[in-house]
Amino acid sequence: MIKAQEALVKPLPIPDGDTVEFWKGLARGELLLQHCLDCAQVHYYQQGLCRLCGSERLEHRAASGRGRVYSYSVVYRAPGPAFREDTPYAVLLVELEEGPRMISSLMGGDPERVTIDMPVRLVFERINDEITLPRFRPA
Ligand SMILES: [Zn+2]
Repeated sequence: MIKAQEALVKPLPIPDGDTVEFWKGLARGELLLQHCLDCAQVHYYQQGLCRLCGSERLEHRAASGRGRVYSYSVVYRAPGPAFREDTPYAVLLVELEEGPRMISSLMGGDPERVTIDMPVRLVFERINDEITLPRFRPA
């Protein structure tokens, strides 16, 4: 169980061996996708092997930043005190132009005007020197 004081702070991702390059990319303004050099599958979730063909030949390439809302949900009740001032906000499942889908949230738009298939554009929210979060705004 977390302490009351900890609940006031938003949890942040912790880079590990599989994701450190991904987080470095975001810090310099690139969303890195893993492209399989054997089967051409493109992955958002960082891993050591291609989940489609098992190849270890994965190469990072920066995403275009263009995508569409595949699904979404508008949050009215904060999941914890740290998010209370953010409500309402839209959690998005974005289908990137390159194919993968990723969960993110809307920045700089009206969460109640999000629609399925709405074009969105990647933006970067710098949290600290190590962590920059990928978000999306209406395109
Ligand atoms: Zn593959």
